[in-house]
Amino acid sequence: MYRKLTADKIFNGHQFLPANSVLILDQNNTIIDVIKRAEAGEDVKFHEGILSPGFINCHCHVELSHMKGMIPKETGLIEFLLGVMGKREAEKEIIEQAIEIAEHEMIANGIVAVGDICNTNLSIPQKRKGKLYYHNFIEVSGFPLEVADKRFEQSNFLFKEFSALHSNNSIVPHAPYSVSQVLMQKIIDFEKNAIISMHNQEAQDENDFYRSKQGGFLELYNKLNINIDFFDPQYKSSLLTLLPHFNNAQKLLLVHNLHTNESDIVSTKEKYKEQLDNLFFCLCPNANKYISGDLPDVNLFVQQQCNLVIGTDSLASNEHLSIMGEINTILESNATISMEDALKWATLNGAKFLGIDEQYGSFEIGKKPGMNLINERRVEKLF
Ligand SMILES: [Zn+2]
Repeated sequence: MYRKLTADKIFNGHQFLPANSVLILDQNNTIIDVIKRAEAGEDVKFHEGILSPGFINCHCHVELSHMKGMIPKETGLIEFLLGVMGKREAEKEIIEQAIEIAEHEMIANGIVAVGDICNTNLSIPQKRKGKLYYHNFIEVSGFPLEVADKRFEQSNFLFKEFSALHSNNSIVPHAPYSVSQVLMQKIIDFEKNAIISMHNQEAQDENDFYRSKQGGFLELYNKLNINIDFFDPQYKSSLLTLLPHFNNAQKLLLVHNLHTNESDIVSTKEKYKEQLDNLFFCLCPNANKYISGDLPDVNLFVQQQCNLVIGTDSLASNEHLSIMGEINTILESNATISMEDALKWATLNGAKFLGIDEQYGSFEIGKKPGMNLINERRVEKLF
């Protein structure tokens, strides 16, 4: 039995298809063909709105789902970080239950795959149920030079726990202000790392710290009793300081990019010029609004022809885990960005970053990407 579907518009992962196109699917929801309405015969089901492949959430922390509403809005990144560190502890059952509810919300919102940051093994029981595709980013932090070996060893232990689940895992740095260059190099050299993700330039303080050893992070290190005497000003942004460590044979996702400027982008693209398909920038606008009230300069990344993807971040900094919600914020705040652009970031680009575009991200023959119906800026998961 074949199913024949059409709509006002069909976004196929690359662009909108010509009017009157029809998707043909088999009983397993695999795309069999894309044909013209005139050739489709009877029994074509019409939907009002846009049909789109399932969404890819490239940046989440499901293990923080129990923190929904715990941290006040717009207090800035440093207060937010202290809030997460101070309030994340909870009973295992509460955390596990919140993870299950959060995953259910993502599925209902048409998300089919997630790049998920992990500092603990608490999400393993839910992930074992296999309801959603995950790439687990085992996150390491440690700014003092002397903790690099120990922290890397601990993350390797967690990496092995996740590897018992499946092979879609990487060890990744938390952020430039929380990972020393020694630890960064260990992460990049880890042979099983094909895909790297890092929080990047989420606050101006991060650049101030790297450029001149000034700004709000000094207070953060002080509060956390971290001795930073060893650190000298680098006279350039955090991203430009760390750039020499990255390996352009690995995929790299830079997340947030609220304070990334043109020179940062140009230099990073130069580093990846032989492998531009490996360099991605993730937008999480609703989390940025929640934490700092700021939004990234999306047009800058478009003008620089960057590969953009979209993430929700966690429920600690977002009211919903909805890629549609992120798209709506992007479109409302950037008149020159089209739904077509944003849908490409939410589907095919995300699938390419996670290395799952053989199955997900576009309506192409042989793929089984899931299907969402978007109508009046709301999403309904069809399957
Ligand atoms: Zn994050």
